[in-house]
Amino acid sequence: MKTTKIIIAGPRGRMGSEAVKLVTQTEHFELTAVVDHKYDGLKLSDLEGFPKLDIPIFTDLEKCLQTIEADVLIDLTTPEVGMAHTRTALKYNVRPVVGTTGFSKEDLDELESLCLDKDLGCIIAPNFAIGAVLMMKFSQMAAKYFSDIEIIEMHHDQKLDAPSGTAVKTAEMISAVRNSKKQGHPNEKETLTGARGAEYEGMHIHSVRLPGLVAHQQVLFGSDGQTLTIRHDSYHRGSFMSGVKLAVETVLMINTFVYGLENILE
Ligand code: NAP
Repeated sequence: MKTTKIIIAGPRGRMGSEAVKLVTQTEHFELTAVVDHKYDGLKLSDLEGFPKLDIPIFTDLEKCLQTIEADVLIDLTTPEVGMAHTRTALKYNVRPVVGTTGFSKEDLDELESLCLDKDLGCIIAPNFAIGAVLMMKFSQMAAKYFSDIEIIEMHHDQKLDAPSGTAVKTAEMISAVRNSKKQGHPNEKETLTGARGAEYEGMHIHSVRLPGLVAHQQVLFGSDGQTLTIRHDSYHRGSFMSGVKLAVETVLMINTFVYGLENILE
């Protein structure tokens, strides 16, 4: 199997450090550089907790791509940075695999058209955990029979975006099979702002942020005399890495824009 040359943006982060482990421990993957906003010119091995590998650190992706060869960029940073990195990677014909969440619909539309222009593969996945993808698919199945739905997503308290990319993606997938419907009592009134959460086509999304949590979501369905709960829990970030590996392997074989891991699972 041909070796895939990979750059990781955000290597010191909770997800990025797991991705460094994945790439350096996978036989047909090669980490050629990392992009961090600190430590320009140092090597990854100069930082505590990283393998003793001579991987250069760049603070600027564009500069990195002018000197370093890469097939794939894995981005696990923040929404604004991730968006800029994805644009730059496509400009340099490097295929992005993006786990960073918080992109708007306009961002995704822009990236899709950039991919089309460049005829390059790009995978953006708000959740790389296979179990979470199944939770979304099962929720879409259930929504055909239960139209009253509340999504409760729970994450660690350092998460920047709310609701989570997974919650938004779940709501989008459900909306593909459910007619828009205002839920609850027609005269419902919040006595404390935000009590009913965010609204997506009449469904409600609630975001919980607590230390100790990683990434969790339940989708609650209700109808006359019954409820159904579909729940997924990621207890540590290793749970996302089999999805990252699959996305890297897949992005090399496609020339399209893919949003959501479910679109590349068999
Ligand atoms: P994190 O621990 O805060 O890591 C983000 C990293 O990006 C930090 O090391 C940060 O450095 C670095 N960074 C900031 N600006 C940068 C820049 N300009 N260039 C390079 N690196 C930069 O966050 P995380 O928990 O790993 O999550 C990262 C992203 O992945 C978030 O958007 C999160 O929602 C998403 N996520 C996705 C999945 C999935 O399955 N798709 C799962 C979990 C999380 P500093 O710390 O110095 O600022």
